[in-house]
Amino acid sequence: MAPRTQRDCVICRGREGDGDLHRVEVWEDPLWRLTTSLESEVPGFSYLEPKRHIPHITDLDGREATTLGTVLGRVAGGLREATKADLVYLYVFGGGIPHLHIHLAPHREGDALNAQMIRGVVVEEKLPSGATRIVSKEFPPLGERDLGDLADRIRARLSRKPRVRR
Ligand SMILES: [Zn+2]
Repeated sequence: MAPRTQRDCVICRGREGDGDLHRVEVWEDPLWRLTTSLESEVPGFSYLEPKRHIPHITDLDGREATTLGTVLGRVAGGLREATKADLVYLYVFGGGIPHLHIHLAPHREGDALNAQMIRGVVVEEKLPSGATRIVSKEFPPLGERDLGDLADRIRARLSRKPRVRR
């Protein structure tokens, strides 16, 4: 299990650290808290974080792992209603502050959010399924054979019993 708190972590400081991050708490339960940004181009841009110091999504375990789905559905639904957004986008990066934080971005047509996951000049192709394939001119798709091999490795890794961390 990750340590309960980390001394030099601004997110572990909870409400006391919110001023430094220009945000305010809008919801909490014993394990999680949701804060909303007070400086954003996007109305209602919010952060969902475990109170316990869990560094990255890849470290998620314990009660936070079993409650995330319910909590995420509740807070995303509340955000969408309160902001009258069309959708709520989620982002998890992890390269900044090493305390898991899920960005929730209420999205409306024409707002400041970038709807792309890849860099570069992108070309959109409508597929017969109705989905849109987004291809970057700088980063063309990798070979299907290599991606298939990688999918096999991922499938094999995930079919093993999960590691139990103590
Ligand atoms: Zn922390």
